[in-house]
Amino acid sequence: MEIRKEVGVRDSITSKVSRYRNFPMVPRVIFGRGSFDQLGEILMPKRRHSEAPFIFLVDDVFEGTSFASRIPLIFNDQVIFVSAEEEPKTVQVDALVGRIKTEFNELPSGIVGIGGGTLLDLAKAVSICLTNKGSSCNYQGWDLVGKPSVYHVGIPTISGTGAEVSRTTVLLGPEKKLGINSDHTTFDQVVLDPDLTNGVSKEQWFYTGMDCFIHCIESLNGTYLNAFSQSYGEKALELCKEVYLGELSPADSRDKLMMASWHGGMSIAYSQVGVAHAMSYGLSYLLGVKHGIGNCMVFQHLEEFYPKGVALFDQMVQKQKVQLPTGICSDLTDSDYETMISVSLSMEPLWENALGKGWRDIATRKKLKSIYSRI
Ligand code: NAD
Ligand code: ZN
Repeated sequence: MEIRKEVGVRDSITSKVSRYRNFPMVPRVIFGRGSFDQLGEILMPKRRHSEAPFIFLVDDVFEGTSFASRIPLIFNDQVIFVSAEEEPKTVQVDALVGRIKTEFNELPSGIVGIGGGTLLDLAKAVSICLTNKGSSCNYQGWDLVGKPSVYHVGIPTISGTGAEVSRTTVLLGPEKKLGINSDHTTFDQVVLDPDLTNGVSKEQWFYTGMDCFIHCIESLNGTYLNAFSQSYGEKALELCKEVYLGELSPADSRDKLMMASWHGGMSIAYSQVGVAHAMSYGLSYLLGVKHGIGNCMVFQHLEEFYPKGVALFDQMVQKQKVQLPTGICSDLTDSDYETMISVSLSMEPLWENALGKGWRDIATRKKLKSIYSRI
């Protein structure tokens, strides 16, 4: 079996010696409403000594809230509030690492990321670059990280991306948007407290949750599918249907979406995403459209590739009364289209997963342009 990771292009590392990838998983996870309040006791044994702080990278939506006052600070721990307005960039990671190294004489005991995919990815990247020299852009790609990262903890406050389980951190660098895919990227500890997702807006809840739904559809309909990915993908899909088409209580819905995100992330670990992600990267690159909403904008027009998935998606949009933006590509020039199409088509493993080895005959520039022009 050839194995490739989400986001970007790489050669299969399959060889005669190692046919199968040996993936790291999150070794410790705590789940439950209110479990965040156990964070202090979870971190305590990981404190090297009082001079080696924990640095908490926290979505600035929580600045000044009662939740922020529950972060278990002791000694010289520090909270850094970070905006999730823009998706993470390599320069931002480098600046955070520089700041931590300047302010403290020695390495922190650990990094704790609290927020959505944006903050989780930042925390992963910062923990890698504290122990690996140079700019984070040097590590964008596959298996370029040499040294183990600093102990790092992920605490999602919105569910869907699967960033809490994945082996990648997606960064916009000077040359490309690409993940740092490495065994050292995966979190050492995850805290799944569904109550933390309580304040998410309806739109954002839908867009980020649909990232999970689309992971499932792309994984389950991909040519790379295997029993490992299928088992997680099917469970995640079932949970997404309960959340977006069922009649759950808000608290049950938060529980189930958090577990859907986890399983959806596990499903793509051993397979790959597909057409919606490939095309969404084009939108993101040219227009800065964010991951969740960008995937939705594309996915609604992919009935040719994912007929059952798109039909389900339409039902969810209607049931949840979500209005997707329209006319996003209406003023674009031919050269804009060419850029988006080139970025998208460069995601070769995603296309190969979606359409098989002959994908180039199906995913033509003309076809992509006709889909983009409907967005
Ligand atoms: P996000 O982190 O960008 O946050 C979206 C919005 O929700 C922000 O405005 C944020 O402030 C707000 N928010 C988060 N929690 C909240 C809460 N509890 N209450 C109120 N508001 C809250 O959203 P996302 O969709 O989770 O993450 C997208 C990012 O994840 C992208 O950068 C994408 O590249 C990345 N991603 C990473 C992986 C991976 O495996 N590493 C996978 C998929 C996506
Ligand atoms: Zn995704």
